[in-house]
Amino acid sequence: MVEETIFSKIIRKEIPADILYQDDLVTAFADIAPQAPTHVLIIPNVLIPTVNDVTAEHEQALGRLFTVARKLASEAGIDESGYRLIMNCNRDSGQEVYHIHMHLLGGRCLGPLLAK
Ligand code: AMP
Repeated sequence: MVEETIFSKIIRKEIPADILYQDDLVTAFADIAPQAPTHVLIIPNVLIPTVNDVTAEHEQALGRLFTVARKLASEAGIDESGYRLIMNCNRDSGQEVYHIHMHLLGGRCLGPLLAK
């Protein structure tokens, strides 16, 4: 049994969020606790708890995450300065919300990839 998270409510607009993009496959919204001047979450509309649950059926939606990331990075003016895309999986990564999401982070120098 796959349990919905707060992100399903954001997709259905049942709770407020700063939605920057939405189509039939994905939704993008501002992270509530931004770690950089630009911090957007891009998620598939279908509930996939972790990357471990990804199947070939999800390829179209997951590919869309990248085209939307590119579009939003360009709109935010960080495409040339650079940005980072992160997707956490399970406990050791620090995943908190079990509906996969791509973090789009930029607008400042992001430093080394991993905290020590
Ligand atoms: P992760 O640690 O990869 O699971 O990231 C979860 C992210 O979701 C964190 O950056 C949170 O700040 C963000 N988040 C949690 N609840 C909300 C919400 N209601 N609206 C926007 N972002 C949220």
